[in-house]
Amino acid sequence: MDERSDLRAAVRTIPDYPRPGILFRDITTLLGDARAFRRAVDELVQPWPGSKIDKVAGIEARGFILGGAVAHQLASGFVPIRKKGKLPHETVTIAYSLEYGIDEMEMHRDAIAPGERVILVDDLIATGGTATAAVELLRKMGAEVVAAVFLIDLPDLGGARRLRDMGVTVRTLMS
Ligand code: 5GP
Repeated sequence: MDERSDLRAAVRTIPDYPRPGILFRDITTLLGDARAFRRAVDELVQPWPGSKIDKVAGIEARGFILGGAVAHQLASGFVPIRKKGKLPHETVTIAYSLEYGIDEMEMHRDAIAPGERVILVDDLIATGGTATAAVELLRKMGAEVVAAVFLIDLPDLGGARRLRDMGVTVRTLMS
């Protein structure tokens, strides 16, 4: 088995979760597999060894798990992007569309200095609604978004393309 098929095999698919008709890609099995977790993090950062990345921004909640490991690997700081109302200090907020209605995410106003080089991390990109809003938020703070990285891309939903159309380098490990 090559390394990518190994990683793919470590992701579990749950039918009809969280709603009937949805195939949920469950990464907890990958996280629980020591070799797969390490390999996934190594591969996510592979284009940026030794290049100065100031901050890794992780999207709540699975982006925190991967993002913390990625930040350690790149010797960068970590910045949480959270659902509204979870961060204790002064925040900047962005609204984004969900399938039904809108949601908001936020980060601390002082988490990133203008010009800092940032990599965005989440577990999966689908429509890209979450990640494109996170990129907008980071850019609002003056960040240079060097790349957005994900374990899984659902290409039919077009999220990676939307990010690339915004000028963001996208790296995903499986589709
Ligand atoms: P999008 O905004 O791109 O449509 O959806 C991506 C967001 O929803 C990510 O934050 C991701 O964690 C979550 N998500 C949507 N579908 C799945 C899935 O099948 N598995 C996992 N692990 N996360 C999902």
